[in-house]
Amino acid sequence: AASPEARRPSLASLENVRFIVAVGSGKGGVGKSTTSVNLALGLAAQGWRVGLLDADIYGPSAPRLLGLTGKPEVAGQKLVPMEAHGLKAMSIGFLVNENEAMIWRGPMATQALTQMLGEVAWGELDALVVDMPPGTGDVQLTMAQQVPLAGAVIVSTPQDLALIDARRAVAMFRKVEIPVLGIIENMSYFICPRCGERSEIFAHGGARRDAEALGVPFLGEIPLEARIRETSDSGRPVVATDAQSPQAGAYLALAAKV
Ligand code: ADP
Repeated sequence: AASPEARRPSLASLENVRFIVAVGSGKGGVGKSTTSVNLALGLAAQGWRVGLLDADIYGPSAPRLLGLTGKPEVAGQKLVPMEAHGLKAMSIGFLVNENEAMIWRGPMATQALTQMLGEVAWGELDALVVDMPPGTGDVQLTMAQQVPLAGAVIVSTPQDLALIDARRAVAMFRKVEIPVLGIIENMSYFICPRCGERSEIFAHGGARRDAEALGVPFLGEIPLEARIRETSDSGRPVVATDAQSPQAGAYLALAAKV
């Protein structure tokens, strides 16, 4: 892991956060949020105090993924993170309804993010996992510059279209000198639960090849599994609710490498 001491948080609210790691992707829909949540839970399973910041303000999914409803409380001038499955969490999705969050223009989105960064009472955390918006636009760049990130993890599916954008995401983090901790291949393969046959629906192995070509670590493969979708979309992430399952095992292995 990159040295957490190397980039000390400058924002007061992040002062007592030891290690901030961004989870990015080139494209939307590749499973970045699902990976962020299960990765955060995997770090918590190691005994760490962990927060999840849902910075995907155009499509906040932390409320759904963590099964959280209601609004965060305000204490002093700061928002108190909500809690679920032992994680602290903050998301723009707790504050506004989803339709509203989607139609923001760039400057408003950046401002909302800056507020979420500066005005949340995270308290002491060993790690804060930041679920970034997909892509490499202004908001992502601002985030990468303002947040003292220890490193970034990139999630991609194996097909060329997703990988091209994942390479752009790697380039973006490199440009702002954030170490890329590695690439994860999500929806890497599918094992038929009935016959056991393996299908490579979106092709396979592209993320590993890209990681090697780019000189960044390859962190692992997560299969395409109905169980991951079901647990994720119903607010019962697999690492929190079925830690012994092979699906959870895949995320726990990732967490051990980050
Ligand atoms: P993103 O944050 O990249 O937009 P999400 O995490 O919201 O992606 O995932 C998109 C959809 O794919 C969700 O319905 C999620 O449950 C599902 N999903 C993500 N990863 C997997 C996986 N490994 N297997 C099955 N479904 C997955």
